[in-house]
Amino acid sequence: MIITIDPSAQSEERAQLMALLCRLTGNQHPIATTSMGNREVIALDASSLDGETTTLLKQQSAVEQLTLLKTPYQLVSREFQSEDTHIVIGAVHQSTTVTLGGNNDPVIMAGPCAIETQDQLMTIARAVKRAGGKVIRGGAFKPRTSPYQFQGLGLEGLRMLSQAREETGLPIITEVMEPAMVDAVAEHADILQIGTRNAQNFPLLRAAGQHPAKLPVLLKRGLSQTLDEWLLAAEYIVASGNPNVILCERGIRSYDPQTRNVLDLSCVPLLRQLTHLPVIVDPSHATGRRALVPIMSRAAIAAEAHGLIIETHIDPDTALCDGKQSITPEQLTQIIHETQALTRLMRESAYALSNA
Ligand code: PEP
Ligand code: MN
Repeated sequence: MIITIDPSAQSEERAQLMALLCRLTGNQHPIATTSMGNREVIALDASSLDGETTTLLKQQSAVEQLTLLKTPYQLVSREFQSEDTHIVIGAVHQSTTVTLGGNNDPVIMAGPCAIETQDQLMTIARAVKRAGGKVIRGGAFKPRTSPYQFQGLGLEGLRMLSQAREETGLPIITEVMEPAMVDAVAEHADILQIGTRNAQNFPLLRAAGQHPAKLPVLLKRGLSQTLDEWLLAAEYIVASGNPNVILCERGIRSYDPQTRNVLDLSCVPLLRQLTHLPVIVDPSHATGRRALVPIMSRAAIAAEAHGLIIETHIDPDTALCDGKQSITPEQLTQIIHETQALTRLMRESAYALSNA
């Protein structure tokens, strides 16, 4: 259930509503208000509330509207908000801004899996800009499967990323792995990335949602997450106060080691029905193979993804992390060119069909 608060409600009327909600839910659920566009709302699990209770809630003067949804996720659902969410990237740390979602051009994010040196990052960042990329990626805190692998440069890496933004003017995305690091990462990042291994780290999701800057959060799909679980993870962030969530399909675990993961492209059009949040695709982690990245990028755009995030390296074979799936700046240039051509073609054919 979603309660939309009447904007003209006085503080006593709101307090009365909150007290009633706490009583009705037996103080067992967190009751918090969050902003969605220009509305202030409270979402809660209404499964234990009967018809009489719902009527009582409707009668509260602070309540403008009650929306009853059948899905477990609420605020992120398309049923609640029919318009696409548009996410402005880069507004907080004053880089060039870019808007992702809705009918905007697909946004291409690219850069190394891990930041290795300032030189490496700057060379790639310049190449990403030249190729037409709009956001620079780079991991400073790396969630590695083995404790003996390169773990990333940490805070030093974040400072290098900030310098890359300063020089190129492009916003940056980087991963945050633990709640206690959200503030430190948010000081530098334009987008907070939550990785597949942390997709259900609920304290981290809450911390990213509660950060006052409301930086966009890129939420990767968990290794074996269902769409409902994924959307509920996004719901944690939105219900904690941050509506700026971007979903990222990065492949799910299956049985065949030929590809690193299985790219579930059908989730893109399906998510566009289920949620108003934008969806992008990571063809690098999804396939684990450099040769497959260009064609799966095309496929993702054809499936109407709102963007791509692609691992790119000047010399992929020497990369400290994920070199096999990293492409060169030349390949990135080609992919961006194809993405633009494909987008034009899809718009023209949609226009032709609507006028036929
Ligand atoms: C990454 O982007 O480098 C990364 C670790 O991604 P994922 O969480 O999808 O594995
Ligand atoms: Mn990687």
